[in-house]
Amino acid sequence: MHFSRLRLTGFKSFVDPTDLVIAEGLTGIVGPNGCGKSNLLEAMRWVMGENRPSTMRGAGMEDVIFAGAASRPARHFAEVTLHIDNSRRLAPAGFNDSDTLEVVRRITRDAGSAYKVNAREVRARDVQMLFADASTGAHSPALVSQGQISELIRARPKARRRLLEEAAGISGLYQRRHEAELK
Ligand code: ATP
Ligand code: MG
Repeated sequence: MHFSRLRLTGFKSFVDPTDLVIAEGLTGIVGPNGCGKSNLLEAMRWVMGENRPSTMRGAGMEDVIFAGAASRPARHFAEVTLHIDNSRRLAPAGFNDSDTLEVVRRITRDAGSAYKVNAREVRARDVQMLFADASTGAHSPALVSQGQISELIRARPKARRRLLEEAAGISGLYQRRHEAELK
């Protein structure tokens, strides 16, 4: 799946609506310290369903909402939209009725997160599954954070296997089996 566009508003330092077109091939993000490079990658993880504040370098999930600056008040909500080129219809069943998938996550203070795919409200789990099946996802090995390489080298076999399963795109199957066993 090709991510073709990322839009943010009120997300961390991106207080004003920001629209980024992602070209095919390799993309590099460059800029001075503190300009928001890591925030962009976190926005991608977040819209794919990341729910651990620590991954977002925060204490609580609402810490992703623009917290205010000297001249600007804090925001009440943050929203990130990810456009996915689905012209090859590689998305899982149920998501394959259009050429573009538009995944939106919005968090409102005191009201939590809401997700939409192509304007249809969905659950967090649906979005997580969508990306798990496509072997992208918030925990995907396609997003390599600082320190992760040495972590992989030092990892115990079980943890290393989990990473390989994510890369192979089969972790969604395990999640479903686990849920089926609980029923
Ligand atoms: P480096 O090159 O040092 O890694 P970077 O380009 O990755 O820097 P980020 O870490 O993405 O920069 O951005 C940090 C900036 O985002 C800081 O100025 C921080 O104050 C701001 N920031 C983070 N969360 C929020 C928030 N909730 N509200 C407002 N600003 C925020
Ligand atoms: Mg950074």
